[in-house]
Parts: sequence; C-alpha cells; structure tokens
Amino acid sequence: MITTNKETVKFSLISATILGLCSIIVCGSFMWFLGFFSLLPVLGIGILIFGVTYFFIYFQTQKYLFGNINTIYEELDIAENVPQSRSLVTTDMNTLKQQVRDYAKTRNKEIENLKGQDEYRKEFLGNIAHELKTPLFTIQGYILTLLDGAKDKPELCEKYLLRASKGVERLEYIIKDLDLITKLEVGDLNLEVEEFDIVALIDNIFEMLEIKAKKKKITLMLDRKYEPIFVTADKGRIRQVIVNLVVNSLKYGLENGTTEISIEKLIGSKLIVRVTDNGEGIKKENIARLFERFYRVDQSRSRDEGGSGLGLAIVKHIIEAHDEQIYVESVHGIGSEFSFTIEKIAQQESNVVEGLVAN
Ligand code: ADP
Repeated sequence: MITTNKETVKFSLISATILGLCSIIVCGSFMWFLGFFSLLPVLGIGILIFGVTYFFIYFQTQKYLFGNINTIYEELDIAENVPQSRSLVTTDMNTLKQQVRDYAKTRNKEIENLKGQDEYRKEFLGNIAHELKTPLFTIQGYILTLLDGAKDKPELCEKYLLRASKGVERLEYIIKDLDLITKLEVGDLNLEVEEFDIVALIDNIFEMLEIKAKKKKITLMLDRKYEPIFVTADKGRIRQVIVNLVVNSLKYGLENGTTEISIEKLIGSKLIVRVTDNGEGIKKENIARLFERFYRVDQSRSRDEGGSGLGLAIVKHIIEAHDEQIYVESVHGIGSEFSFTIEKIAQQESNVVEGLVAN
C-alpha cells in the first residue's frame, strides 16, 4: 500500500487547474473566433482536461516517487527498522524523513556496539597474551638454564624443574579460567540446577582449603552452627563461586586472620551467603572495577598469589546466570565482605532457615 503525500495532491491540483483554465481560454477563444461560442461545452472541456490532467499527474508522480523510494527502502533496508510492515512504503516526505532518521539512529547504535565489541576483543586478546607471557617466560628461563648446564648439578636441577612446573601449573589454571569465562560469556554453559545442602557444601569447601588456610594461619569458620539448608542452584557452579571467594579471602587475607561465612534469610525465598574476611580490604575507588576481567588492585601481588585476574569475573557470571545478585563491601585496612543471593527450596521447613539464621 502506498500512502499519499499532501505535496503530490497539491502539485496535481495546481497543474490540473492551470491546464483546465488554459484549455477553457484556448477553446473559448477558438470558438469565439469561429463564431459559435457556447459556455457549456467550453466548461465541459475545461473540466475534462482538469480531471484527466489531475489523475495523470497524480498517478505518474506517485509512481515515480514510489519507484525511487522503494529503491531507497530496498537498498537501505529501512523497512526492517520501521514498525510498519514492509508493504507500507510511504511517499509522505515527513514520514520518510523520520524513518531515515530512525534508521540512521539504529545503525549508529549498531556501529557503536560493534566498536565497543572490537575494543573489548582487542583488550581481551592483549590481556590474554600478557597473562600467558609471564609463566611462559618463566618456564623458558628455567629450561634454558638447565640446558646451559644446571641439569648437571642435581640440587639446581630439581629446584629449577620445580619452578618450571609451577609455571606450567599457572598456565594451566589461566587456561582453565579463560575456557570457563569464554563459555560463560557466550552463554554456552547450561546450568544443572538441583537441590542441595549449602551448609554441607561450605563444610566441604572449608575442608578442601584447610591446608591452604593453615599456611597463613587463617581460620575458616561459619558464623554459627547451622542445620542443613537446602537451596536450588547448580551445585558445581556455586561451589566454584564459594571457592573463588574463600580463596581470595586467603590470598588477600592477613596472617592469623579469619574467613567467616554466614547464611541469612532475605525477603521471600531468597537467602544471602556472606563471605567475610579481616584482610587487607579494598580502597573505595577500586571497588567498582573488581568484577572486570583481568582487573587487579595490585597486579604483582595478585600474580604472586597465583591469581589469573578472572576469579571475580567468573563469580559474577555464575551468579548472574542464576538470576541472582552479588555484592561487595570493603574497607581498606579492615576487611572485605562478598555476598550473593541464592534461592532456597520452596517446601523447606521455615524453622530450618528462619530459626537457625535468626539465632
Ligand atoms: P585475582 O586472580 O587477581 O585474585 P580476582 O578476579 O579474583 O582476581 O580478584 C580481582 C582483584 O580483587 C584481586 O586482584 C584483588 O586485588 C581484589 N580482591 C578480591 N578479593 C579480595 C579480598 N577478599 N580482599 C581484598 N582484595 C580482594
């Protein structure tokens, strides 16, 4: 369907009126000259010429405009961006101008988006190269030193091999984290939601990290004794979240410190799990960027602690994939608290959660 425009109607009317009037004057004069002037046939001819001219000019102009505008629609694919259907091509200039403006706006947004993605890709590749370079150079350095003669000295041989092996370990967990974050970002990671006892999961994680905590004399504890609390989530992924948060509390915690986990009831069926430490804390200005990939407050400190810089980005992705929230509060020199929400199972006896958590 072609929607008409006022300009075409106006132009056709003016042209038809001029031609109609001209034909009246020409016919009238001619008849007058031949001596059989009669008003009615002269007016009839004028009206006929007016009508024919109006419709001819109107349809020819519409055809011409429609043909050209249709080409613009096809070439720019504007119709995809306008709410009307593809067949509603308009020859109304104001509507057309608005559609072209909307089209340009949409395209500009897309271009901005693509530029952003390109920036992100470049930055991501740069970061990966940088992350991999450090352990690779370390491994290469020790191997070259061994080949240069250190292999013949047994005490150096073992020491350097152990260091090279540490580098390989570091490469391994950077690649593992990269693989996971890529999967999370392309939405390739299907959550396997199940019901599980989060208290048992935390106990199990504490057991697993006990040796690591002991090295820094950090105590891992729950804030109180809990009965089992059942939640619905992907157990493996939530385990990863808690492990990453607890490991961070150990990495950036102080000797003889404490890492404490608490579980509290929120409104409705939500629980909040808090991981609190009394470590070095984070300055206010660094908090906003903590969940960015490869962001570290102190680059060398993080690397010394064996961090890939992806731990919190992974945590955020997992929590968001569950449609839950993650929060951070920290005071530099005092400590940090990372917390996330989780869904408790609907039919759970309320006294299990409320009673114990409110204690
Ligand atoms: P990393 O591998 O560097 O630990 P993360 O993404 O896990 O990467 O953390 C990003 C940065 O956030 C860390 O480099 C550290 O500076 C800061 N950070 C994370 N957790 C804590 C914490 N519990 N206490 C103090 N700083 C922390």
